[in-house]
Amino acid sequence: MGQIKAPLIGLSTHTRPVELFGRPTPFSGLTFPYIEALRAAGGIPMLLPHGAGESELRELVGRLDGLLLPGGVDLDPASYGEERHPACGRIDPAQDALELPLTRLALESDTPLLAICRGLQVLNVALGGTLWQDLASQRPESLDHAQFGPENRLTLVHPVEIEADSMVVRIMGATSIQTNSSHHQAVRELAPGLRAVAHAPDGVIEAVELSDHPFAVGLQWHPEAMFRHYPEMLRPFRALVEAAGG
Ligand code: MN
Repeated sequence: MGQIKAPLIGLSTHTRPVELFGRPTPFSGLTFPYIEALRAAGGIPMLLPHGAGESELRELVGRLDGLLLPGGVDLDPASYGEERHPACGRIDPAQDALELPLTRLALESDTPLLAICRGLQVLNVALGGTLWQDLASQRPESLDHAQFGPENRLTLVHPVEIEADSMVVRIMGATSIQTNSSHHQAVRELAPGLRAVAHAPDGVIEAVELSDHPFAVGLQWHPEAMFRHYPEMLRPFRALVEAAGG
């Protein structure tokens, strides 16, 4: 009898300034809700530290069953060939240097990939797309998507309409959902091969997927912050774990 193993899911980490014994010390980490959501969905989380070179990343992707790109700070606009806009936020070059090649390797090797918030933006940029550096200043007709207060994580900020023939609609089980919204950037030019499959009422792209890949899905909202109160928000994590062999 074959035993089904829980799939090993890699999660990329961010850096931050940390002091240890009074000295600035390098740090790789991740806020915990992504880990909790993945565990609740039956996956085994494995944190991927920054500083990995190409050969380490290849080894990693070869051993992982799936990959989760979490939220975080803004991508360096240079990664999509733009000058920095004054309203672009803090960047984390070490996280960019980890996630952009990691994403390309996951796509090349058909490794299942769930990309959340910044992760969706990484997916788009890794494939050649661009971003609004700040919706409020560059696309002022947008709704206020940038709701970052602690009370906002469970606030249903706007509806999201999902394309009826998409993978995302099968994952979420509905063509219309309500989500939180803690992002000030969004997809501007969609990368070749990516499909925008869900939108906010103002036209901002809220989910993307890659057609010629078994499971490469990006969500602009934060299901990991909602799943304990809105059980349907565990569905993207379950779908990742299932695609990864669980
Ligand atoms: Mn939004």
